[in-house]
Amino acid sequence: MRAAMFYGPNKMIVEESSFSHSENEATIKMDACAVCGYDARVFRNGHRKVKPPVILGHEICGQTLQAINTSKGVLSAGTRVVVLPTIPCLSCWYCNNQQYNLCNNLMEIGSTINGGFAEYVKIPQQVIKIGGIVPVPENLCNEEATLLEPLACCLNGFSRLGEIEKDGVIAIVGDGPIGLLHLQLSKKLYNMRSIVIGKIPFRMQMAERMGADAVFTFGNGTEEDVSDFTRGRGADVVIVATSNPEALNFATKIAAKNSKINLFASFSNCNSFSPDPNWLHYNQVSIMGSFSSTPLTLQKAMKLVSDGEIDLSKMVTNRYSLNEIEHAMLATEEFHGLRVVVNRF
Ligand SMILES: [Zn+2]
Ligand SMILES: [Zn+2]
Repeated sequence: MRAAMFYGPNKMIVEESSFSHSENEATIKMDACAVCGYDARVFRNGHRKVKPPVILGHEICGQTLQAINTSKGVLSAGTRVVVLPTIPCLSCWYCNNQQYNLCNNLMEIGSTINGGFAEYVKIPQQVIKIGGIVPVPENLCNEEATLLEPLACCLNGFSRLGEIEKDGVIAIVGDGPIGLLHLQLSKKLYNMRSIVIGKIPFRMQMAERMGADAVFTFGNGTEEDVSDFTRGRGADVVIVATSNPEALNFATKIAAKNSKINLFASFSNCNSFSPDPNWLHYNQVSIMGSFSSTPLTLQKAMKLVSDGEIDLSKMVTNRYSLNEIEHAMLATEEFHGLRVVVNRF
């Protein structure tokens, strides 16, 4: 099969790769794979989780090559599906509590094992067992379907917030696809007044069109902008949806009393973040993280989108073939459009 093999930083080669099917796996013929910011960062810098050579890509939409027995019945060959990229061990404490994304022995499709930037991808038995292969309804195109995985991650993040203040304000730091998915969820599910803080003019315009109540440029004076919008109180929820470590201290500057700050992104160039413990204590501020998603959030994401609650149709802006994988990485890294998708293999 044709595959974009990652050999280390700045080295990805589209080549013929051997592919064999085993009884314990499902094989998916790829229709589309979106490029996550994570993929672009791994391509440029490598990552401690990633041992080359490996095929990246975890935002997967494709068709089952054979029938698959799942806990919810048989998926016939040729069913269009999306896939949960986390591969749990099914024996640790977290797996026993269905918190598969926190598995102590976690492996990941498109990171620790071969992923979706290829003609075919193999899905291990554990993913099938936990309900991680989900059929895609007719009313979603392949490109929209690739965004269900990131949407599920955002839902997982929201599930960590617990009770949210009535009439609360959410500030989303980051204007990328993840920031805009958070924006849609905050408006549709929680009806929160929503601020998007970004840097890229096109993305900030998209945030306005998707219903942001305020859009501010990240830089000098943004703290005052948020303060003015919230009448000096600050935001009740702050989502850090950017890998820029400057966003961390900034998040603490715009957080209200009783607020929750979720670190949704990972930070490749950040070794320290030291919020003032007394500030946390006296203001009852919680700082938390969220990572990846679970079968439940993936199914919930599917339902929200197929019911028309969340609109993914404007999220994919740039399309590439597998041969153009380096361009796809560059477009992601340089913040072109919104989501970049590889859709010809
Ligand atoms: Zn991703
Ligand atoms: Zn486990």
